[in-house]
Amino acid sequence: MRYVSTRGQAPPLGFADTMLTGLARDGGLYVPETVPQMPKAEIAALAGLPYEEAALRVIRPFMGDAFAEDHLAELIARAYAGFGHPARAPLVQLGPNHFLLELFHGPTLAFKDFAMQLIGQLFQAELARRGTRATIVGATSGDTGSAAIEAFRGLDNVDVFILFPEGRVSEVQRRQMTTPDEANVHALAVEGTFDDCQALVKAMFADAAFRDRVSLAAVNSINWARVLAQVVYYFTAAASLGAPHRAVRFTVPTGNFGDIYAGHIARAMGLPVEQLVIATNRNDILHRCLTTDSYRMAGVAPTISPSMDIEISSNFERALFDVLDQDGRAVAQLMEALKREGGFTLSQGVADRLRDFYASGRTAEEETLATIARIARSTGEVLCPHSAVGVHVAEAHLAESAAPMITLATAHPAKFPDAVERATGHRPALPERMADLHNRAERVTRLTNSLTDVQSVIDGRISA
Ligand SMILES: *Cc1c(COP(=O)(O)O)cnc(C)c1O
Repeated sequence: MRYVSTRGQAPPLGFADTMLTGLARDGGLYVPETVPQMPKAEIAALAGLPYEEAALRVIRPFMGDAFAEDHLAELIARAYAGFGHPARAPLVQLGPNHFLLELFHGPTLAFKDFAMQLIGQLFQAELARRGTRATIVGATSGDTGSAAIEAFRGLDNVDVFILFPEGRVSEVQRRQMTTPDEANVHALAVEGTFDDCQALVKAMFADAAFRDRVSLAAVNSINWARVLAQVVYYFTAAASLGAPHRAVRFTVPTGNFGDIYAGHIARAMGLPVEQLVIATNRNDILHRCLTTDSYRMAGVAPTISPSMDIEISSNFERALFDVLDQDGRAVAQLMEALKREGGFTLSQGVADRLRDFYASGRTAEEETLATIARIARSTGEVLCPHSAVGVHVAEAHLAESAAPMITLATAHPAKFPDAVERATGHRPALPERMADLHNRAERVTRLTNSLTDVQSVIDGRISA
């Protein structure tokens, strides 16, 4: 099993190196050279299995001989043991032919736990096998950092440092990062914005001496292992609604395109997915690209679904690689135009192929709030603002086919209590198992927006 870069200039790697490397050396993203096929009988056999067993069957073919089967089964079991629901990714019905896939029962209440919890176990196992350590450094506007800290806490071969903008993440998100008390996790509050944090992380990776000294690694959303972990719930949801004998559709609240791209991989493996719908909030660069053939930056406006407030949708590069017939040079040219000119225009043929693969829609802020209120009233299901963006877009596509529509619910409503309270008049409560979050002691290091300060903290903590 080999992985190639979307820009065609980096050496192909096996699974473990792809995971530990993250970004390819030519600036591209790793994708499987060929996607393993899952025969119909094997898809049918997933129905009714425990989530962990389905995960083993779906992801193993992508890993070559990186992990022995029983070892992988053990790592998967450990990854999902901390979830607050025995189904891990339960499916509930919202209305005729419309289903909601609840992906928020993980330890930090967002779908990112599915990938991060597994990647934590896989990193630890691979580093232990190699007899090395790694230092994970990441910047977060909230969800990714808490998921990373939760996934790597207490693991022997990894230190994790998460930079977040002081005062600019929600209280729940901050507490999820600052209350774990294991010595290998470090929450760093930076005096600055999310962009400042991201710039610091970039600068650390660009400092070759520092990078080598601390064995820097990244687990951001372009890491292939994260995409792979997310493929699983497309299979479990579809199989429980009758796949492969019945086709299904998915609508995915989308930002960096990692989650929906996992749906594309499920389809490429043979899962009958009739439609994959990209749902955006008012930051609708992907929806505009699908409707105007042109990907063009126009500035990001803050919304009540902040995890989708982006305009450089990093995993979209993988979709472009597919529709450009795996032409790395053509992808590199588009990415260069994006950097230099703030956008690019696709040829008619390429844009048509993209529309064969993905549909799209956008949801305005008032529609998001109205959807939360209406679904709570009509079904009792309380949606987070991201999931509400998805439900609104899904409803617009519902009548196009008789295949069931599955909308991905990406976060728990209690993670975004202000927006939910505005919509419904009720403040959603945290699940019982984390009800004491607001009473746990916090541990955080405050830093100015200075590369040398951040680096000396990391150097000091690692040698300690
Ligand atoms: C990260 C995130 C998204 C966007 O997912 P992508 O994989 O980046 O497209 C949507 N909703 C929530 C709650 C998230 O945390």
